[in-house]
Amino acid sequence: MERFSIAIHGGAGTILKSSMTPEKETAYKNALKIALDAGYEVLKNGQSAIEAVERAVVELENCPLFNAGRGSVFTSEGKHEMDASIMDGRDLNAGAVTMVSGVQNPITLARLVMEKSEHVFLAGAGAVEFAKKMNCTFQDEKWFHDDFRYQQWLDIKDTDSIQLDHSVKKVQKFGTVGAVALDMTGNLAAATSTGGMTNKKFGRVGDSPIIGAGTYANNATCAVSCTGSGEFFIRGVIAYDVSCLMEFKGLSLKQASFETIYKRLPKINGDGGLIAVDSQGNIAMPFNTEGMYRAFRKSDGSEEISIYK
Ligand code: ASP
Repeated sequence: MERFSIAIHGGAGTILKSSMTPEKETAYKNALKIALDAGYEVLKNGQSAIEAVERAVVELENCPLFNAGRGSVFTSEGKHEMDASIMDGRDLNAGAVTMVSGVQNPITLARLVMEKSEHVFLAGAGAVEFAKKMNCTFQDEKWFHDDFRYQQWLDIKDTDSIQLDHSVKKVQKFGTVGAVALDMTGNLAAATSTGGMTNKKFGRVGDSPIIGAGTYANNATCAVSCTGSGEFFIRGVIAYDVSCLMEFKGLSLKQASFETIYKRLPKINGDGGLIAVDSQGNIAMPFNTEGMYRAFRKSDGSEEISIYK
């Protein structure tokens, strides 16, 4: 059997053991396991990496613990605007959506953009119109409402501040979600989905839906999904940077991803992390924050589900 592997994340940030109860920790780990199982099962059945990353991210989007899909944070207008992107390392095909509301699974919409449209990136009302045409599942505002996130927003709603979900003082709920996978046939894929930042306005878009910044996949190098302060990931073109360091400098997956997260990103004051997989099934999950919800499983039986450093 050819080797295969998958890694997922549920956001990086100020995740401290001291602020976590054993019950909460178990809830997060269970949620990560459900998504990991879903993606791994797809790979085990011989299906594609793109199918596996979508399946894993759908599970994370449907879980209110994470800032994506159902658990998305509130914008300055008290709404939800979600971003997602997906990339296939086989042919560098990609799909992305930004500022979409009401769509249950933005990652599925991103995949439809990739596979059923002639475009890569759709935004706002147009993306929603496309979702309707594709018969995507929609949910009302109530479905996306979460009391904790609503409170997060009320705390800063009348100010000019925007807040990274994973940087709040009341450390309970974090982040953007993502998945990367290598399938049995040697194809790589990456997917990322997020609600962005609490109280965001002016149509703010982060790195998550931007190919090269928050998401990248290329069979020749690696598949990457990022989480953290999006503005810095855009400026550092972080996901593509990992791929470039491998392609043009000959670095290994570990060397390349550590270089971006521990050296290049901090140089411009960025914080966050990423998950990445290469064509050999190696996995790297570096982060320069206190924690990152993360997990991986490989066909050789190795597995990890962890939160802190
Ligand atoms: N990168 C995301 C953004 O800036 C946030 C996150 O990773 O939690 O929208």
